[in-house]
This record gives sequence, C-alpha cells and structure tokens, in this order.
Amino acid sequence: MHEISVLKRAVDLAEQTAIDNNIDRIAYITLEVGELSGYLPVFFEKYFDVVIEDRPIFEGAELKMIRPRGEGLCLDCHAMYNVMQNEGMCPKCGSRNKKILGGQQFLLKEIGFVEPAPSPQN
Ligand SMILES: [Zn+2]
Repeated sequence: MHEISVLKRAVDLAEQTAIDNNIDRIAYITLEVGELSGYLPVFFEKYFDVVIEDRPIFEGAELKMIRPRGEGLCLDCHAMYNVMQNEGMCPKCGSRNKKILGGQQFLLKEIGFVEPAPSPQN
C-alpha cells in the first residue's frame, strides 16, 4: 500500500511544523485527498494510528480528510462532469477526451494544535 508512505511523509511534515513552532501537542491533521489522487482514504484511516505510534506529539490526535471531487471537462462537447462517477467517460457525448480540472491533489491541508494551558496569572 503506497498510502502508508505518503501518510508518513504528511505526519513527518506536521511534526516538523509543530516543532518549528514550539507546539508540543497536535490535535488533528487534515489531509486533502482528491478523488483522482490514486489514494484511498480508507487506508489512511487504517494506518494513521500505526504511523503516529511512538510520537508523543500526536497523542490522541485525529485524522480528518477532505475529498475534492474529480472534475473533468469534455474536450469534444465541453460538458463538465464527475470523472469517478462516469468512469472517465463524458455522460453527454461518450467521449473520453477530457481535461482534468481538479481532484488530483494530495496535500497536508491543516494542522490543528492543542492550545497550551494558560499560565496562572499572578
Ligand atoms: Zn462530451
């Protein structure tokens, strides 16, 4: 499964970003996993706990995902359609000539930090 290595890279990046910002706890990370990225969210969910094991900064952290739709523009009839739902074929004219407009991205979108406990006022 290639998901585990990209997930590891995203977790490394989140960890490094937290360290660079003197953050000691991460509450969640959000991954953007496009429908056409070739990655399946179910595997990220499955491996997240494994990848964050032995990383105290991620203790109790949550994995969130957003799944941008894979949109295609038909180059023959100029219809816009969802590439996944239509299996890569224009539902209007049946052409497979298309330009992919989105949904191919995989990225670390957001890192949620746990706010440090406020220091007592005196
Ligand atoms: Zn078409």
